[in-house]
Amino acid sequence: MLPSARSIIPRQRDGPAVKNPILLEFISEIARLAADETDESIMCAHALTRAREWIPAANAGGVWLYALDADALQCCASQGYAAAMPREINIPPGKSYGRVFSSGKAIRCATITQVRELVNTMPSAARALYQTAAEVAYPSSAIVAALHTADAKLGVIALEKLRGTRPFTANDLQKLKTLAALYAFALAHARLRRALYQAQTTKETATARAESVSFLAHEMRTPLTSIKGYATALMIENVHFDAATQREFLEQIDRECDTLIQLIQDLLESAVLDAGLLELKREPLRLPRLVQEVIDDIRLTTTQHRFLVEFPRAFPLVQADPARLTQVLRNLLENAVKYSPRGGLVVIHGESQPNQITLSIADQGIGIAPEHLNRLFEKFFRAKTGPAQATIGSGLGLPIARSIVTAHGGKIWAESVLGKGSAFYVTLPLEPADNALE
Ligand code: ADP
Repeated sequence: MLPSARSIIPRQRDGPAVKNPILLEFISEIARLAADETDESIMCAHALTRAREWIPAANAGGVWLYALDADALQCCASQGYAAAMPREINIPPGKSYGRVFSSGKAIRCATITQVRELVNTMPSAARALYQTAAEVAYPSSAIVAALHTADAKLGVIALEKLRGTRPFTANDLQKLKTLAALYAFALAHARLRRALYQAQTTKETATARAESVSFLAHEMRTPLTSIKGYATALMIENVHFDAATQREFLEQIDRECDTLIQLIQDLLESAVLDAGLLELKREPLRLPRLVQEVIDDIRLTTTQHRFLVEFPRAFPLVQADPARLTQVLRNLLENAVKYSPRGGLVVIHGESQPNQITLSIADQGIGIAPEHLNRLFEKFFRAKTGPAQATIGSGLGLPIARSIVTAHGGKIWAESVLGKGSAFYVTLPLEPADNALE
C-alpha cells in the first residue's frame, strides 16, 4: 500500500499543511516524478540535486538503496566526491549509514568525533573516495535520513560537508527528513508501478502461451485423428482392401502428415522470428521468375485453380532474400488456393514505382469479413466463421510473412469483399541501384 499524502507532507502547527513555496514546488515536482519515472538512479540523482539546492551547506552526498540479494545498502547516486561511488560497495544494515536504515531515525553528526565514528564503520572502498589527490578529507559534518514509507524501508539519503567547518544545523536535518519522506514516496510508487506492470505482462504471456498450446493441440488433432483412422483400418486383420483403396488410404495419410509438418514448421519458424534470429541474405532478385517458380509448384496441388501472372516487361531487380521471399509468396498463394475451395482464378500482378515495387495476389475465394481484416496478421488468428473454419492452419503464415516483409523494409496488407475474394499486397523498397531493369 502506498503512504497517503497526509503521512508524508509535514504539517505545521496550525493551518494548512504546507506554506513553504520551495517545498510546494518540490512536492509537485516529486509527484510528477512519481507518475512518470521508473528509473531509480534518475530519481535518486534528482533527490540529491534537490537536497543540495535546498541545503546549500552540503557539498557532497549519496543515496543508498537497500538491495535484498546483497542484504546491504548500495549507492544509487552520488555527487561531490573525488569519484562516483561504485555501486558494488555494500554497507550492511546497522553499520555507518546502515544505522539510519535499520532504526529509521535520522542522524546529525555535528562534531568530528561523531563523523569519524560514522565514516570509520564504512567499507574501506567507500572511505577511499574521501581521498583527494592531496589529502584525506573526511567530512566535518554529516546528516543522514531514512528513505522509508509506512510499509517499506527503501534506503537512506546522506549529505556531507567536505569543505568548511560550520556544521549542519537541526533545521538542515529537518529539511533532509522532509525531502527523504517525499522521495521515499516517489520511489515506492515507482516500484509499485513496475511490479504491477510485471504482473500484468507475466499474466498476459501465460495466457497467450496457454491459448497457443490449446490452439495448436486443436489444429493437430484433426490430421492426427485422420492418420490414426486410416492406419488402423489398414491394419484390421480380417478385412482386405483392394490395392486402389489401400493406395487411397496411404495417400490420405501422406497428405495429413504434410499438414502436420507444415504446422510444426510454422511454429518453429515463428519462434525463430520471435527470438529476433531472422538473418536476411539479400541478393539482386528477379521477382517475376520467383513468382513463376512458386506457382509451378502450387499448380501441381490443384486442378481447380487457374493462375494469371501479370508483370510489366521491364521489371526492376529487388534486393531480397530469395528463400524468405519464396516463403512469403508460397504462403500467400497457398492461402489463395486454400481459401477458394470452389476454385477460380488467382491473379498475381506486379508493378514498379520509382522507390518500390508492389505485388498483389488476388483470389475469387471466400473473402474475409471486415472485422477480421486487421486481425489477419496477429499470431494464431484464424477466421472462425464461414468456410474458413473447415480448413486446417497454424494461423502463423501471415504473421511470419509480415515479419519477413517488414525485415526487408516493405509492407503487407489485405483487402477483401466477403464472399467475393481477397487481395494481398506486398511492397518492397527499391534501392537506387535496383532501378536497373531486368
Ligand atoms: P492459416 O492459413 O494457417 O490459418 P494464415 O496466417 O496464413 O494462417 O492466415 C490467417 C487467417 O487469415 C486464415 O485462417 C484465414 O481466416 C484468413 N485468410 C488468409 N488468407 C486468406 C484468403 N486468401 N482468403 C480468405 N481468408 C484468408
